[in-house]
Amino acid sequence: MPPKKIVTVIGARPQFIKASAVSALLRQDERMREVVVHTGQHFDTNMSDVFFEELGMAPPAHQCAVHGGSHGEMTGRMLVDIEKVLLAEQPDAVLVYGDTNSTLAGAVAAVKLHIPVAHVEAGLRSFNVRSPEEVNRILTDRVSRWLFTPTNAAGANLRHEGSRADHIDQVGDVMFDVALHHGARVDEHGGVLGELRRIYGLRPGAYCLATIHRAENTDHPARLTAIVEALTHFSKEIKVVLPLHPRTRSVLAQQGRLDALERAVILMEPQSYLAMVQLEKYAALIATDSGGVQKEAYFYRVPCVTFRDETEWVELLDAGWNRLAPPAEAATLLSSLHASLGSKGAELDAYGAGDAAKRIVARLLRDLH
Ligand code: UDP
Repeated sequence: MPPKKIVTVIGARPQFIKASAVSALLRQDERMREVVVHTGQHFDTNMSDVFFEELGMAPPAHQCAVHGGSHGEMTGRMLVDIEKVLLAEQPDAVLVYGDTNSTLAGAVAAVKLHIPVAHVEAGLRSFNVRSPEEVNRILTDRVSRWLFTPTNAAGANLRHEGSRADHIDQVGDVMFDVALHHGARVDEHGGVLGELRRIYGLRPGAYCLATIHRAENTDHPARLTAIVEALTHFSKEIKVVLPLHPRTRSVLAQQGRLDALERAVILMEPQSYLAMVQLEKYAALIATDSGGVQKEAYFYRVPCVTFRDETEWVELLDAGWNRLAPPAEAATLLSSLHASLGSKGAELDAYGAGDAAKRIVARLLRDLH
């Protein structure tokens, strides 16, 4: 029997990381053939290429160049490009990840051509429909044939919304697979930590790692100000390391605030995955608005403060590893940072057994052959 063809649509940093686990297995299996489409949503070397190299992924077979623009413009241009690829490739299924515009465009292009869609990280909900990620998640889940959920909460959300039970498959979190595989390879010596120790005297276990990139923070000056002020104050007590997302860098540069921030915190370019793992693993505290980084904090048992009003990874709040800190004013963010520093949560069994990718490929094989 000829191999079944899967077109994987990815375009943003977290998707390269998630896809690396599944792509490695698809490549090994002669009953499957994967064709990767990169939409171009993230395109800088340190937001894209570095992940393909470091995580051992084959270069994309199709490279689109859709970067920038409004949500409608970006998603629309992706739809046009992805549709052309799907018409040429005629795959048996389309695989999409997470909650970006690339996810939605891949799902819509496929379902309109009657190609079944597999959504990895299905069912997550923040219940904030003003966030672009939430809209992308809901619409993608609605048209997907396979809903691969990472957590119990995600499965419950889908059942509540009326998704078919036989479409939902609780496989665990592919990011946990990747963290298990790569996290163990990283220790405190050398790498970015070694460099920061040499330059700034940074010691493992004695710094706060921060990331900020979500539109709900970068595009709202009062929220971004609260975060920047809180991190600036906090840096007087503990060193703060901030690998800066290009969107955040550009907003802060426009506001003329980059120099002041750079004097307070250790400002860095976006890091590679393994460098980020090292920074996460040896942090005393993580402060972030990222979805993935919240979970990675727990994978390395580092307390986390999330600069958002809500999160889709609710189990980490219940377990005490994560604390929500809505960015209203700097003083309350600072209290949250103080409260979380040195805290621990309860052990969780929430993200599967590190075999999510294996279970996804097994299910696709079973249903497609
Ligand atoms: N990440 C990285 N380098 C960085 C910042 C983040 O490799 O400088 C990784 C991080 O470890 C996690 C993923 O990117 O695996 C999270 O992506 P991001 O925060 O961009 O998006 P989100 O998870 O919020 O969708």
